[in-house]
Amino acid sequence: MIACDECGQSVDGDAHETVTGRRLCNGCWTRFQGTAASLVSGGGATDAIATAGWLERLRRLRGR
Ligand SMILES: [Zn+2]
Repeated sequence: MIACDECGQSVDGDAHETVTGRRLCNGCWTRFQGTAASLVSGGGATDAIATAGWLERLRRLRGR
């Protein structure tokens, strides 16, 4: 059994895993999807910039 990364509740069997590897219970997963949807519709550019920065950091780490 695992614990939800959002609320700490234990999850029976089928946790939902996000792209960032967080494991969520059903309730938090539903809320997360709502948040993600609002980000896509409302803050697409900001999200893209954040993703680009993250990839840049990965590249730097790998370059060493
Ligand atoms: Zn939860």
